[in-house]
Amino acid sequence: MTPIRRLTGFASLDQPPVWPATRRCPQPRRLDASLDTLPGVGATVKRKLAKLGLETVRDLLEHRPRRYEAAAPEVRIAALGGEEEVVIAGEVLDVSSRRRGRLTIVKVKISDGTATVSATFFNQPWLAQQLAPGVRMRLRGKPGRYGFDVKAYDVGDGDSTADFAPVYPAGEEVTPKKIRALVAAALPYAHDVYDPLPADVRVREQLPLKCDAFAAVHHPSSGKEAEVGRKRLAFEELLLLQIGIARRAAERERTLAPSLGEPGELIARYRKALPFALTPYQEQAIREIDGDLARTAPMQRLLQGDVGSGKTVVALYALLRAVENGRQGALMAPTETLAEQHFLTIADLCQELGVTCALLTSASRKRERGLAQQVDVVVGTHALIQEGVELRDLAVAVVDEQHRFGVEQRSALIKGALTQGRAPHVLHMTATPIPRTLALTVYGDLAVSEIAKPPASRKPIETRWISEEQASAAYTRLTRLLAEGRQAYVVCPLIEASETTLARAAEEEAERLQRAELRDFRVGCLHGRVKPAERRELMARFKVGDLDVLVATTVIEVGVDVPNATVMIVQEADRFGLAQLHQLRGRVGRGAEQSYCLLVSRAKEELTETAQKRLEALVATTDGFELAEIDLDLRGGGAFLGTRQSGMSDLHFAHIRRDRPLLERARAICGAVSVEPSPLQDAVDELFAGADIEA
Ligand code: ADP
Ligand code: MG
Repeated sequence: MTPIRRLTGFASLDQPPVWPATRRCPQPRRLDASLDTLPGVGATVKRKLAKLGLETVRDLLEHRPRRYEAAAPEVRIAALGGEEEVVIAGEVLDVSSRRRGRLTIVKVKISDGTATVSATFFNQPWLAQQLAPGVRMRLRGKPGRYGFDVKAYDVGDGDSTADFAPVYPAGEEVTPKKIRALVAAALPYAHDVYDPLPADVRVREQLPLKCDAFAAVHHPSSGKEAEVGRKRLAFEELLLLQIGIARRAAERERTLAPSLGEPGELIARYRKALPFALTPYQEQAIREIDGDLARTAPMQRLLQGDVGSGKTVVALYALLRAVENGRQGALMAPTETLAEQHFLTIADLCQELGVTCALLTSASRKRERGLAQQVDVVVGTHALIQEGVELRDLAVAVVDEQHRFGVEQRSALIKGALTQGRAPHVLHMTATPIPRTLALTVYGDLAVSEIAKPPASRKPIETRWISEEQASAAYTRLTRLLAEGRQAYVVCPLIEASETTLARAAEEEAERLQRAELRDFRVGCLHGRVKPAERRELMARFKVGDLDVLVATTVIEVGVDVPNATVMIVQEADRFGLAQLHQLRGRVGRGAEQSYCLLVSRAKEELTETAQKRLEALVATTDGFELAEIDLDLRGGGAFLGTRQSGMSDLHFAHIRRDRPLLERARAICGAVSVEPSPLQDAVDELFAGADIEA
């Protein structure tokens, strides 16, 4: 018998287990190559790059230039002569145009007052119309055999003669120039980038291929070209985001949650028990929450409001709605301090209402954890769910300061409850206001309730930005207020160090202040290394006025509520982020007394421009929403969307605020995109890897 040769190639019916890659086929895996595979990167540089978040070739490609720089020197025409590429500028003296076969040749004479040079343009017949004696031109190139050899030119105010060398964000250790060289070395890998945009979308939106977009961003010949490239990449990011969000929303609609009907008798008693009337904003938020709780799909609502605006009252309302239905509520906080604080706030009220309530922390024993089954409301840290506390029938979960939560924990909560057959309603509380534009983009599937105004009778915090030289005057003022019976916080510098070093620095500062400026007062020190029991005692002492000053690290950022504390001094305030400073400041101004916040920093001239802007913004306003918008502007949006907050990788090229039109276009086509498996859907999976899209 003649053996039949089996065809294994394209013509065969038997497919090979893996198709061999053709030579020009993109190999996306090459993008994951570590940076030391590039020339000029050894262990040291690699480590420095990692600090900037640059670890793979892909990271370099996705490293967006902050601006572009003109690097070619501009010279006088009389000084022309070298081999180097230069820019000359001058006035057109004379223009002539002629044809040779199918070739149009435009010849121009240009003078800048020092000398005259001629330049020749081929096949640009329109130039003859644009150019006339007296018109200003810029030419980039070098002197050649027939006058000036033009590489690029501008008539009037164009910008294509500039160099457009990209300028990248760099650290202190890696120069922008080095990064520029590395990105250039990475650029050939752009061919290995797989373009996930469907061809029809790309054509309809008039977008370049992804690899071309990278080339345009990193090596443009004009500002316009760079922007076309950036927009292409930004559009993809926003589209993937919108598709992911739509998926998440659809998923949720298919999930079952207990419908909690209308508010009943317990809620009526709760309202009566509150020592104040709810503000219209709180009432509005409650109405929105009631609407969600009546549905059989799980609530996913973001309750945002400035520090002290009264979110906790609303959160407890939601928890009680679960309780009056015979189910459980859980209140989760990112830190034990905050969990304890919440517990203290609600425990009395709960008792008055006959609602049982338990605090669970990582220190809780097994037996105490067993109790979680029986109580109505459980308060705890994320340890609550991570370490497998079994709840009886969780109907409402309130996640406080959710931006500090890893998304994993959030989804763990939801999954844990799902094993009991239903998903809980979830209310995310955040005191870091999320700009409206951002809420729309990232939290597009979350309904948002806003508590816009803090309860009345609060005076806005008076904020000053002072230099270190003026600090002693600030302490004099502080001691005067302390003598009047007020209390204060002193926030230690945010140093890049371990928790232990930070703790030691705080303790040293507390001791120093106790010996010097604050010798007549009682100073306590709070940091991350203080044991929970000690911390509780410290906080209790501060609350009853047994301590005058609390020297602290950022652990006081959230939750601490002592109305008599009216002064805050933040040392080296320029080291903190805007949102963080706003959070810190929210620890004062919680009572009826006038409060003060003093931001101390080095001399203004020594600070970076953004650091100056941050501090200026804090002085100018106490409106958290406004500050959030400013923060978004200063940071461009990318960093704002860190994995922690959104559960997805950063946006590199999209600017949440300025790219609003792109976002709208992405939203518009999002619904029409096929949900079948495709490179686009794969890219969405990748972007949301680890996030809780599939609830
Ligand atoms: P947030 O959680 O938004 O920071 P809280 O809920 O902790 O704010 O409220 C801050 C303080 O304001 C608390 O002492 C609380 O009792 C009080 N408070 C809340 N709502 C009102 C209101 N409607 N009227 C007066 N005081 C209120
Ligand atoms: Mg609160």
